[in-house]
Amino acid sequence: MISRAIEELMSEKKDAMMITAENVANVMVGNPLEHALLVLSKVGYSKIPVLDKGDRFIGLLSLNDVVNKMMDLNGIDTKNLSKYTVADVMNTEIDVVKENCELEDIMHLLVDAAFIPVLDDDGVFKGIVTRREILKAVNHTFHELDKKRPVSGKFVLQPTASK
Ligand code: AMP
Repeated sequence: MISRAIEELMSEKKDAMMITAENVANVMVGNPLEHALLVLSKVGYSKIPVLDKGDRFIGLLSLNDVVNKMMDLNGIDTKNLSKYTVADVMNTEIDVVKENCELEDIMHLLVDAAFIPVLDDDGVFKGIVTRREILKAVNHTFHELDKKRPVSGKFVLQPTASK
């Protein structure tokens, strides 16, 4: 369990921890892969959330998923980009958190994922918490702890004036 003092210091960076939905690039579940590939290459992220028309979170789409669908035994077939949609290749087995979740739960999940989607009770996508933002908060916490509880420096013999 994270101590109250650490959680309080981490909370000082709470506002910056979640990138809100309007600032997160996404694709619609029914989009053709052609469009999804365009979005992925434009935003420069290799994995982004997939939403439905009601802004509910459905899963994640990675560049790898799209490229794999283009490839067959003979090489790359770009015709597949218009033949398939995001629904055909996305990953729906994704760990998510609720807006009111514990910081500790997020930290555990971020061990295995670069970001965690945040949903409301109806499954509507609210944003993401990234490993990067959490690490910034951890960094802030360490520095604040250092200021509040300075640890005495390394033991050094001090010469005293001889009597
Ligand atoms: P970062 O920690 O900033 O490198 O982000 C980690 C991952 O989170 C990225 O590789 C993306 O998959 C995702 N991500 C971060 N910011 C955004 C964003 N604004 N829109 C979509 N995905 C994002």
